[in-house]
Amino acid sequence: MTDTEKIAALLFPEVNKTPADLEAQYPPRALPEGARVTRFSPSPTGYLHIGGLFGALADYMTAKQSGGLVYLRIEDTDKKREVKGGVEAILDGLTGFGITFDEGVTKDGEAGAYGPYTQSERVEIYRIVAKDLVRRGLAYPCFCTEEALSALRAQQEADGAPFFGYYGQYAKCRDLSDEEIEEKLRAGKPYVLRFRSTGDMDRRIRIEDLARGKLEMPENVIDEVLLKSDGVPTYHFAHVCDDHYMRTTHVIRGEEWLPSLPKHIALFSACGFRAPKYAHTPQIMKLDEETGGKRKISKRKDPEAAVQYFAKAGYPAESVLEYLLTLLNSNFEDWRRANPDAPLTAFPFNLKKLSVSGALFDAAKLRDVSKTCISRMSGQAVYDATRSWAKANDPDFAARLEADREKALGMLSLDRGGKKPRKDLAAFSEVQPYFSYMYDDLFAPDYTLPGHIAPADAAAVLERYLEVWSPDDDNPAWFEKVKSICAPLGFAAEMRDWKAAPGDYKGSVSDVSTVIRIAATGRQNTPDLCAILKLLGETSVRARLSAAAAHYRGA
Ligand code: GLU
Repeated sequence: MTDTEKIAALLFPEVNKTPADLEAQYPPRALPEGARVTRFSPSPTGYLHIGGLFGALADYMTAKQSGGLVYLRIEDTDKKREVKGGVEAILDGLTGFGITFDEGVTKDGEAGAYGPYTQSERVEIYRIVAKDLVRRGLAYPCFCTEEALSALRAQQEADGAPFFGYYGQYAKCRDLSDEEIEEKLRAGKPYVLRFRSTGDMDRRIRIEDLARGKLEMPENVIDEVLLKSDGVPTYHFAHVCDDHYMRTTHVIRGEEWLPSLPKHIALFSACGFRAPKYAHTPQIMKLDEETGGKRKISKRKDPEAAVQYFAKAGYPAESVLEYLLTLLNSNFEDWRRANPDAPLTAFPFNLKKLSVSGALFDAAKLRDVSKTCISRMSGQAVYDATRSWAKANDPDFAARLEADREKALGMLSLDRGGKKPRKDLAAFSEVQPYFSYMYDDLFAPDYTLPGHIAPADAAAVLERYLEVWSPDDDNPAWFEKVKSICAPLGFAAEMRDWKAAPGDYKGSVSDVSTVIRIAATGRQNTPDLCAILKLLGETSVRARLSAAAAHYRGA
């Protein structure tokens, strides 16, 4: 037995398998040429982060558009951050956005031949690979205590070392003799397992990041921890073992991992694995109200960091996804303009087009995107979505929508379809305040008139209109009637007449309909007024118009 084999046997007495066994158990996937295997690998911290949603979307689109597959791996090695029900929260969150997985952790166990898909259940795999590294002299136990590590840092500071960390001459346990190791192990000293780096500080590595292009970074020289003292792997080691044996082809992950890339490349090479392709996605930033500077969006300060926020606020899932793509893929908006009705999954998502300079979350832009998304939906779809939003968030409003379904469906169908649908609703939570005038008990009259219309003229318009209006009129007939009352009251029935000689009239046909609109709805702007009056029904319309006329008469 060589010395390293002896140490390996001492450290991992229970491990009998070798990486060759793992290769046989997890063979390369039989997929067509060019098919990409991606993974979403969150930590179960109890909520889905907006950056996580983007990552999952990028994983999903990258896999699906290449004829590959995407799986869900749960990275639960940091037990301190774990929250009960965290996995369900992630699965529910993603399902709500239409993102599903081909393999991996599910609500009732897991599916797929490359598992287990939860890191805490993969201890055996990490130990097999770790033992092999020790055996080949590429990993060693390190017994340094917290105090020893602090002293080391102080030493590095005093020496003006180029960077801090466990490496080179500072890596004390790197050169322990076998006897020393055996003695410490026998004494039950806790230890971590470290990588024995063969890197050179003066060398640089070249890597291609799919989003950032060619990168040059210093070679890794750090003897990084692979297994912590409780045997749990670090992110670095788990990433390398998992993405190899799960046969990931493309690792799409947050840019916070970019500085660790040289470490990962070195580890893949030490393990004899082929490294996957990488794309590091930008962090989602926010303008800090206090400092005016950009900062990372944070769960603690920003409710929108957790995606449940958007569902609660009543944004359709589609709006959030479209907004994220707008934010992160520079060509998305052009594509959407050219393909207004195509499903989102048809967007040719390209990691190369990822904007990498820190994406700034902009609530106003989200609202704009969302207005367009809702404007593309049918009245029935808006009704269904508003009703399910209300059921969860505003049961009284849900009951109202159900009590008079015809009316609700009618109001939500106003001005939809056609080339220029109305873009007035950004979220389902806005439906009730937006349409409050449709319900007598919510209607709040506001009789304010545009400055150039005298109250007495407004009263005359309403009185006259009450004589001619019928809920049975179709749109052209309705408008003819509005026009018909103009001339006798001194208003221009044709816009061109009014434009040609505004001084000759009290106002135009548009002012006449504004007066009716204000009386019926309390608003100066609404969708199709003819349809609104029909939906309100004869009794309401007559009561509202008469009350307004009386108000203008000063009664
Ligand atoms: N669990 C890691 C995180 O939460 C995943 C990073 C990766 O995708 O590799 O950041």
